[in-house]
Amino acid sequence: MSVRAKKHLGQHFLKDELIAEQIADSLTGNGYKNVLEIGPGMGVLTKYLLKKKYTTHVIEIDTDSVEYLKAHYLNLASRIISKDFLKIDLTEFFGDEQVAIIGNFPYNISTQIVFKALENRHQIPEFSGMFQKEVAKRIAEKEGSKVYGIMSVLTQAFYDVEYLFTVPPTVFNPPPKVDSGVIRLTRKENYTLPVDEKLFYRVVKTAFQQRRKTLRNSLKTLNLSDSLREDVIFAKRPEQLSVQEFISLTSKIEKDAV
Ligand code: SAH
Repeated sequence: MSVRAKKHLGQHFLKDELIAEQIADSLTGNGYKNVLEIGPGMGVLTKYLLKKKYTTHVIEIDTDSVEYLKAHYLNLASRIISKDFLKIDLTEFFGDEQVAIIGNFPYNISTQIVFKALENRHQIPEFSGMFQKEVAKRIAEKEGSKVYGIMSVLTQAFYDVEYLFTVPPTVFNPPPKVDSGVIRLTRKENYTLPVDEKLFYRVVKTAFQQRRKTLRNSLKTLNLSDSLREDVIFAKRPEQLSVQEFISLTSKIEKDAV
């Protein structure tokens, strides 16, 4: 018995064992004892995770896949969460323990997975896995790149990001239309954002909503004082700003008395 791929669940099963093993190896295993795999499907990645020193848990929305896993991975049965990752509260399953995240992620919800991980970053020391290449690049690229944007800045504010390798469509069943990319996120330890987080998110999102405009124009809705808007940083476009510069911009806006 195997599971037939369901398109609406973003199911593209990996059929290349070597790549599955390389993805499993993308977690370092340092500093945590729990790993949560999102979307294990038929367990191609899971079986390599189960050989590691940490404890592997999986979360899978598709009940056919859950049945398959229960039948084929007997020692995993008690650690299968049959739910939607986007809807769970991690503390319900892991208390206040740290848990690393991994997966060959369902591409239809990949950005939502990243944003959920960022929200829960205090609990997630490491996060690695496979995305559409374009999304992987968007997370990993630095300022100056065409795909540098909201996700790059928000992720890199809290994590160091490494683009590890590219995977062609041919190793999946069914093959996706695009290349895939594997990345690793390592949380910056003992780091707190030195500015108000909500304001930081707002500045980054507002700036990139009009990415061709200078900040002087795109940030008009933030009601900044004339003197602040004279600052040279406002002559730049968002894709020219490093993460550090977005933080210092937010700090200036925080201190701005209109
Ligand atoms: N890891 C497997 C399957 C990858 S396909 C492999 O590499 O072969 C993506 C998997 O994510 C599918 O099994 C799909 O059912 C599951 N999935 C989709 N949406 C999900 C969600 N919201 N929460 C948990 N799992 C989900």
